[in-house]
Amino acid sequence: MGFFNLTKEIAMDLGTANTVIIYDDKIVVDQPSYVAINRDTNQMEAVGEKAKEMYEKTNERIKSVRPLRDGVIADFSACEMMMRGLIKMVQTGHHLFSPSLRMVIGVPSGSTEVELRAVRDSAEHADGRDVYLIFEPMAAAVGIGIDVEAAQGNMIVDIGGGSTEIAVISLGGIVSNNSIRVAGDEITADIQNYMSQQHNVKVSERMAERIKKNVGSALTDLSDEAPEDYIVCGPNRVSALPMRVPVCYQEIAKCIDGTIRKIEDAVLSALENTPPELYADIVENGIYLTGGGALLRGLDKRLQTKIGIPIHIADDPLHSVVKGTGIALKNIGRFSFLMR
Ligand code: ADP
Ligand code: MG
Repeated sequence: MGFFNLTKEIAMDLGTANTVIIYDDKIVVDQPSYVAINRDTNQMEAVGEKAKEMYEKTNERIKSVRPLRDGVIADFSACEMMMRGLIKMVQTGHHLFSPSLRMVIGVPSGSTEVELRAVRDSAEHADGRDVYLIFEPMAAAVGIGIDVEAAQGNMIVDIGGGSTEIAVISLGGIVSNNSIRVAGDEITADIQNYMSQQHNVKVSERMAERIKKNVGSALTDLSDEAPEDYIVCGPNRVSALPMRVPVCYQEIAKCIDGTIRKIEDAVLSALENTPPELYADIVENGIYLTGGGALLRGLDKRLQTKIGIPIHIADDPLHSVVKGTGIALKNIGRFSFLMR
Protein backbone atom coordinates (compact mmCIF):
# COMPACT_ATOMS: atom_id res chain seq x y z
CA MET A 1 0.00 0.00 0.00
CA GLY A 2 2.78 2.37 -1.00
CA PHE A 3 0.36 5.18 -1.79
CA PHE A 4 -0.83 5.41 1.78
CA ASN A 5 2.55 4.82 3.29
CA LEU A 6 3.48 8.38 4.02
CA THR A 7 5.77 7.73 6.94
CA LYS A 8 8.76 9.99 6.61
CA GLU A 9 11.90 8.62 8.21
CA ILE A 10 14.64 10.92 9.34
CA ALA A 11 17.79 10.60 11.42
CA MET A 12 19.00 13.59 13.38
CA ASP A 13 22.11 14.65 15.23
CA LEU A 14 20.84 17.39 17.52
CA GLY A 15 24.17 18.95 18.45
CA THR A 16 25.02 21.92 20.63
CA ALA A 17 26.78 23.55 17.67
CA ASN A 18 25.34 21.86 14.57
CA THR A 19 22.21 19.93 13.73
CA VAL A 20 22.42 17.46 10.88
CA ILE A 21 19.56 15.48 9.30
CA ILE A 22 19.66 12.43 7.05
CA TYR A 23 16.65 11.67 4.87
CA ASP A 24 16.57 9.05 2.15
CA ASP A 25 20.20 8.09 2.91
CA LYS A 26 21.47 11.60 2.25
CA ILE A 27 22.51 14.49 4.45
CA VAL A 28 19.81 17.00 3.56
CA VAL A 29 20.19 19.49 6.42
CA ASP A 30 23.48 20.56 7.97
CA GLN A 31 22.96 23.78 9.89
CA PRO A 32 24.27 25.56 12.96
CA SER A 33 21.99 25.00 15.99
CA TYR A 34 20.63 28.54 16.16
CA VAL A 35 17.14 29.99 16.01
CA ALA A 36 16.11 33.63 15.71
CA ILE A 37 12.87 34.58 17.41
CA ASN A 38 10.70 37.66 17.21
CA ARG A 39 10.34 38.87 20.78
CA ASP A 40 6.97 40.55 20.18
CA THR A 41 5.18 37.70 18.43
CA ASN A 42 7.33 34.82 19.68
CA GLN A 43 7.45 33.55 16.08
CA MET A 44 10.48 32.09 14.38
CA GLU A 45 12.31 34.64 12.21
CA ALA A 46 15.08 32.37 10.97
CA VAL A 47 16.80 29.09 11.72
CA GLY A 48 20.23 27.55 11.15
CA GLU A 49 22.82 29.49 9.14
CA LYS A 50 20.52 32.51 8.73
CA ALA A 51 19.92 32.68 12.47
CA LYS A 52 23.64 32.31 13.15
CA GLU A 53 24.28 35.30 10.89
CA MET A 54 21.92 37.30 13.09
CA TYR A 55 23.65 36.16 16.29
CA GLU A 56 25.40 39.02 18.13
CA LYS A 57 23.72 41.43 15.68
CA THR A 58 20.16 41.40 16.99
CA ASN A 59 18.04 44.28 18.22
CA GLU A 60 15.29 44.55 20.81
CA ARG A 61 12.78 43.05 18.39
CA ILE A 62 14.70 39.93 17.38
CA LYS A 63 16.84 37.60 19.47
CA SER A 64 18.99 34.80 18.09
CA VAL A 65 19.70 31.96 20.50
CA ARG A 66 21.51 28.65 20.77
CA PRO A 67 18.95 26.42 22.46
CA LEU A 68 21.56 23.80 23.40
CA ARG A 69 24.22 26.20 24.53
CA ASP A 70 25.66 24.22 27.45
CA GLY A 71 25.61 20.63 26.28
CA VAL A 72 21.95 20.09 27.08
CA ILE A 73 18.71 21.79 26.10
CA ALA A 74 18.95 25.13 27.84
CA ASP A 75 15.82 26.60 26.24
CA PHE A 76 13.02 24.14 25.58
CA SER A 77 10.66 26.24 23.50
CA ALA A 78 13.51 27.57 21.36
CA CYS A 79 14.76 24.02 20.83
CA GLU A 80 11.37 22.87 19.68
CA MET A 81 11.06 25.81 17.32
CA MET A 82 14.51 25.10 15.91
CA MET A 83 13.79 21.38 15.38
CA ARG A 84 10.52 22.22 13.67
CA GLY A 85 12.23 24.76 11.40
CA LEU A 86 15.03 22.39 10.46
CA ILE A 87 12.68 19.45 9.84
CA LYS A 88 10.69 21.73 7.51
CA MET A 89 13.83 22.10 5.40
CA VAL A 90 13.63 18.40 4.52
CA GLN A 91 11.94 18.29 1.13
CA THR A 92 9.95 15.09 0.88
CA GLY A 93 7.84 15.66 -2.18
CA HIS A 94 4.62 14.94 -0.27
CA HIS A 95 2.72 18.16 0.00
CA LEU A 96 -0.86 16.98 0.23
CA PHE A 97 -0.53 15.11 3.47
CA SER A 98 1.46 15.84 6.53
CA PRO A 99 3.34 12.56 6.83
CA SER A 100 3.89 10.92 10.16
CA LEU A 101 7.47 11.10 11.18
CA ARG A 102 9.69 8.28 12.36
CA MET A 103 12.86 9.69 13.87
CA VAL A 104 16.10 8.51 15.37
CA ILE A 105 17.84 11.24 17.36
CA GLY A 106 21.32 11.22 18.85
CA VAL A 107 21.42 12.44 22.46
CA PRO A 108 24.39 13.06 24.79
CA SER A 109 25.22 9.94 26.78
CA GLY A 110 25.38 11.91 30.00
CA SER A 111 21.73 12.95 29.63
CA THR A 112 19.48 12.57 32.65
CA GLU A 113 15.97 11.11 32.37
CA VAL A 114 14.61 14.64 32.39
CA GLU A 115 16.86 15.67 29.52
CA LEU A 116 15.93 12.60 27.48
CA ARG A 117 12.28 13.40 28.10
CA ALA A 118 12.89 16.97 26.91
CA VAL A 119 14.41 15.85 23.61
CA ARG A 120 11.59 13.36 23.09
CA ASP A 121 8.95 16.00 23.86
CA SER A 122 10.55 18.49 21.49
CA ALA A 123 10.62 15.85 18.75
CA GLU A 124 6.99 14.91 19.35
CA HIS A 125 5.91 18.53 19.28
CA ALA A 126 7.83 18.88 16.02
CA ASP A 127 5.59 16.13 14.54
CA GLY A 128 7.63 13.08 15.50
CA ARG A 129 5.15 10.22 15.97
CA ASP A 130 7.61 7.39 16.39
CA VAL A 131 10.74 8.64 18.14
CA TYR A 132 13.83 6.62 19.03
CA LEU A 133 16.84 7.95 20.88
CA ILE A 134 20.42 6.74 20.62
CA PHE A 135 23.36 7.81 22.73
CA GLU A 136 25.72 9.90 20.65
CA PRO A 137 28.97 7.97 21.28
CA MET A 138 27.20 4.79 20.19
CA ALA A 139 25.91 6.56 17.07
CA ALA A 140 29.39 7.95 16.41
CA ALA A 141 30.94 4.48 16.71
CA VAL A 142 28.38 3.03 14.30
CA GLY A 143 28.97 5.97 11.94
CA ILE A 144 32.74 5.45 12.05
CA GLY A 145 32.17 1.83 11.06
CA ILE A 146 33.19 0.13 14.29
CA ASP A 147 31.58 -3.26 14.97
CA VAL A 148 29.87 -2.12 18.16
CA GLU A 149 28.35 -5.51 18.89
CA ALA A 150 31.69 -7.34 19.00
CA ALA A 151 33.31 -8.48 22.25
CA GLN A 152 35.87 -5.75 21.76
CA GLY A 153 36.46 -2.56 23.69
CA ASN A 154 36.53 0.67 21.70
CA MET A 155 36.96 4.20 22.98
CA ILE A 156 35.23 7.15 21.34
CA VAL A 157 36.11 10.75 22.20
CA ASP A 158 33.54 13.15 20.74
CA ILE A 159 34.53 16.81 21.09
CA GLY A 160 31.53 18.95 20.17
CA GLY A 161 30.63 22.55 20.90
CA GLY A 162 29.27 22.33 24.45
CA SER A 163 30.56 19.00 25.66
CA THR A 164 33.19 16.32 25.23
CA GLU A 165 31.94 12.78 25.60
CA ILE A 166 34.27 9.90 26.23
CA ALA A 167 32.76 6.44 26.04
CA VAL A 168 33.95 2.85 26.02
CA ILE A 169 31.75 0.60 23.93
CA SER A 170 31.58 -3.20 23.91
CA LEU A 171 28.94 -5.85 23.11
CA GLY A 172 26.45 -3.31 21.81
CA GLY A 173 26.44 -1.19 24.94
CA ILE A 174 28.22 1.70 26.61
CA VAL A 175 30.46 0.26 29.31
CA SER A 176 31.58 3.54 30.76
CA ASN A 177 31.01 7.11 29.92
CA ASN A 178 32.63 10.35 30.95
CA SER A 179 31.12 13.62 29.86
CA ILE A 180 32.55 17.07 30.56
CA ARG A 181 31.11 20.44 29.65
CA VAL A 182 34.41 21.49 28.14
CA ALA A 183 34.74 21.47 24.35
CA GLY A 184 34.86 23.72 21.28
CA ASP A 185 32.89 26.62 22.81
CA GLU A 186 35.33 26.90 25.68
CA ILE A 187 38.28 26.95 23.28
CA THR A 188 36.52 29.74 21.38
CA ALA A 189 35.94 31.65 24.63
CA ASP A 190 39.65 31.30 25.54
CA ILE A 191 40.55 32.93 22.23
CA GLN A 192 38.02 35.72 22.69
CA ASN A 193 39.43 36.54 26.14
CA TYR A 194 43.01 36.30 24.96
CA MET A 195 42.44 38.73 22.07
CA SER A 196 40.91 41.23 24.44
CA GLN A 197 43.53 40.90 27.17
CA GLN A 198 46.67 40.41 25.10
CA HIS A 199 45.94 42.45 21.99
CA ASN A 200 43.30 44.86 23.31
CA VAL A 201 41.05 43.97 20.42
CA LYS A 202 37.41 43.13 20.92
CA VAL A 203 36.28 40.16 18.85
CA SER A 204 32.88 38.48 18.60
CA GLU A 205 32.31 34.83 19.37
CA ARG A 206 32.05 34.19 15.64
CA MET A 207 35.37 35.93 14.93
CA ALA A 208 37.02 33.96 17.72
CA GLU A 209 35.73 30.77 16.11
CA ARG A 210 37.21 31.88 12.77
CA ILE A 211 40.56 32.43 14.48
CA LYS A 212 40.30 28.93 15.96
CA LYS A 213 39.64 27.34 12.57
CA ASN A 214 42.39 29.33 10.85
CA VAL A 215 45.21 29.22 13.40
CA GLY A 216 43.94 27.05 16.23
CA SER A 217 46.42 24.44 17.43
CA ALA A 218 46.88 22.03 20.32
CA LEU A 219 50.66 22.14 19.88
CA THR A 220 53.08 25.08 19.94
CA ASP A 221 55.21 23.30 17.35
CA LEU A 222 53.42 22.11 14.24
CA SER A 223 56.61 22.22 12.13
CA ASP A 224 55.62 21.59 8.49
CA GLU A 225 51.86 21.80 9.05
CA ALA A 226 52.02 25.34 10.43
CA PRO A 227 49.24 27.65 9.18
CA GLU A 228 50.00 31.22 8.11
CA ASP A 229 49.27 34.05 10.52
CA TYR A 230 45.67 35.20 10.52
CA ILE A 231 44.82 38.90 10.37
CA VAL A 232 42.17 39.91 12.87
CA CYS A 233 40.31 43.20 12.48
CA GLY A 234 38.28 44.76 15.25
CA PRO A 235 37.89 47.73 17.55
CA ASN A 236 40.43 48.58 20.22
CA ARG A 237 38.93 47.59 23.56
CA VAL A 238 39.73 50.99 25.07
CA SER A 239 39.81 53.58 22.28
CA ALA A 240 37.32 51.83 19.96
CA LEU A 241 39.60 52.71 17.04
CA PRO A 242 39.93 50.02 14.34
CA MET A 243 42.86 47.63 14.74
CA ARG A 244 44.54 45.06 12.53
CA VAL A 245 46.32 42.32 14.47
CA PRO A 246 48.22 39.38 12.94
CA VAL A 247 47.77 36.26 15.07
CA CYS A 248 50.06 33.21 14.93
CA TYR A 249 49.18 29.63 15.84
CA GLN A 250 51.77 29.45 18.64
CA GLU A 251 50.06 32.12 20.71
CA ILE A 252 46.66 30.47 20.19
CA ALA A 253 48.14 27.11 21.24
CA LYS A 254 49.32 28.77 24.47
CA CYS A 255 46.02 30.48 25.22
CA ILE A 256 43.94 27.30 24.77
CA ASP A 257 46.43 24.99 26.49
CA GLY A 258 44.54 24.86 29.80
CA THR A 259 41.30 23.82 28.11
CA ILE A 260 43.02 21.16 26.00
CA ARG A 261 44.57 19.85 29.21
CA LYS A 262 41.09 19.44 30.74
CA ILE A 263 40.06 17.30 27.76
CA GLU A 264 43.32 15.33 28.02
CA ASP A 265 42.73 14.72 31.74
CA ALA A 266 39.19 13.51 31.07
CA VAL A 267 40.50 10.98 28.54
CA LEU A 268 43.14 9.81 31.03
CA SER A 269 40.62 9.42 33.82
CA ALA A 270 38.28 7.48 31.52
CA LEU A 271 41.17 5.13 30.72
CA GLU A 272 41.93 4.71 34.42
CA ASN A 273 38.37 3.57 35.00
CA THR A 274 38.37 1.08 32.14
CA PRO A 275 38.47 -2.62 33.08
CA PRO A 276 41.80 -4.26 32.06
CA GLU A 277 40.45 -6.54 29.30
CA LEU A 278 38.81 -3.58 27.57
CA TYR A 279 41.85 -1.43 28.21
CA ALA A 280 43.99 -3.94 26.34
CA ASP A 281 41.60 -3.78 23.37
CA ILE A 282 41.77 0.02 23.33
CA VAL A 283 45.58 -0.01 23.37
CA GLU A 284 45.39 -2.37 20.41
CA ASN A 285 42.60 -0.64 18.45
CA GLY A 286 43.48 2.93 19.29
CA ILE A 287 41.16 5.76 20.37
CA TYR A 288 38.71 7.32 17.89
CA LEU A 289 38.45 11.12 17.91
CA THR A 290 35.32 12.68 16.47
CA GLY A 291 33.14 15.82 16.61
CA GLY A 292 34.24 19.19 15.22
CA GLY A 293 36.90 19.52 17.93
CA ALA A 294 38.75 16.57 16.38
CA LEU A 295 39.70 18.96 13.56
CA LEU A 296 41.88 21.11 15.82
CA ARG A 297 45.44 20.99 14.47
CA GLY A 298 47.84 18.80 16.38
CA LEU A 299 45.27 17.43 18.81
CA ASP A 300 45.72 13.82 17.70
CA LYS A 301 49.49 14.10 17.95
CA ARG A 302 49.32 15.74 21.37
CA LEU A 303 47.01 13.06 22.79
CA GLN A 304 49.05 10.28 21.26
CA THR A 305 52.27 11.61 22.81
CA LYS A 306 50.66 12.15 26.19
CA ILE A 307 48.72 8.87 26.41
CA GLY A 308 50.85 6.53 24.32
CA ILE A 309 47.88 4.98 22.53
CA PRO A 310 47.29 5.44 18.77
CA ILE A 311 44.73 8.15 18.00
CA HIS A 312 42.54 7.92 14.90
CA ILE A 313 40.60 10.94 13.64
CA ALA A 314 37.23 9.89 12.17
CA ASP A 315 36.98 10.41 8.41
CA ASP A 316 34.32 13.08 8.55
CA PRO A 317 34.20 14.00 12.23
CA LEU A 318 31.33 16.50 11.92
CA HIS A 319 29.08 13.75 10.53
CA SER A 320 29.98 10.56 12.45
CA VAL A 321 26.98 10.85 14.76
CA VAL A 322 24.41 11.56 12.06
CA LYS A 323 25.76 8.74 9.89
CA GLY A 324 25.35 6.38 12.82
CA THR A 325 21.80 7.56 13.51
CA GLY A 326 21.06 7.00 9.80
CA ILE A 327 22.33 3.42 10.03
CA ALA A 328 20.33 2.90 13.24
CA LEU A 329 17.18 4.15 11.47
CA LYS A 330 17.55 1.36 8.93
CA ASN A 331 18.12 -1.23 11.65
CA ILE A 332 15.50 -0.24 14.18
CA GLY A 333 14.54 -3.82 14.97
CA ARG A 334 18.10 -5.05 15.15
CA PHE A 335 19.94 -2.56 17.34
CA SER A 336 19.14 -3.18 20.97
CA PHE A 337 20.68 0.12 22.03
CA LEU A 338 17.90 2.22 20.51
CA MET A 339 15.66 3.71 23.17
CA ARG A 340 11.93 4.02 22.65
P1 ADP B 1 28.02 19.49 18.40
O1 ADP B 1 27.94 18.01 18.24
O2 ADP B 1 28.07 19.92 19.83
O3 ADP B 1 27.00 20.22 17.60
P2 ADP B 1 30.14 19.53 16.44
O4 ADP B 1 30.63 18.14 16.44
O5 ADP B 1 29.28 19.95 15.32
O6 ADP B 1 29.44 19.92 17.82
O7 ADP B 1 31.45 20.46 16.52
C1 ADP B 1 31.34 21.84 16.65
C2 ADP B 1 32.58 22.39 17.29
O8 ADP B 1 33.72 22.06 16.48
C3 ADP B 1 32.52 23.91 17.37
O9 ADP B 1 33.02 24.32 18.64
C4 ADP B 1 33.46 24.33 16.26
O10 ADP B 1 34.05 25.58 16.55
C5 ADP B 1 34.48 23.22 16.27
N1 ADP B 1 35.22 23.12 15.01
C6 ADP B 1 34.70 22.96 13.77
N2 ADP B 1 35.69 22.96 12.83
C7 ADP B 1 36.86 23.12 13.52
C8 ADP B 1 38.24 23.21 13.14
N3 ADP B 1 38.61 23.13 11.86
N4 ADP B 1 39.16 23.38 14.12
C9 ADP B 1 38.79 23.45 15.40
N5 ADP B 1 37.52 23.39 15.83
C10 ADP B 1 36.55 23.22 14.90
MG1 MG C 1 27.89 16.11 18.47
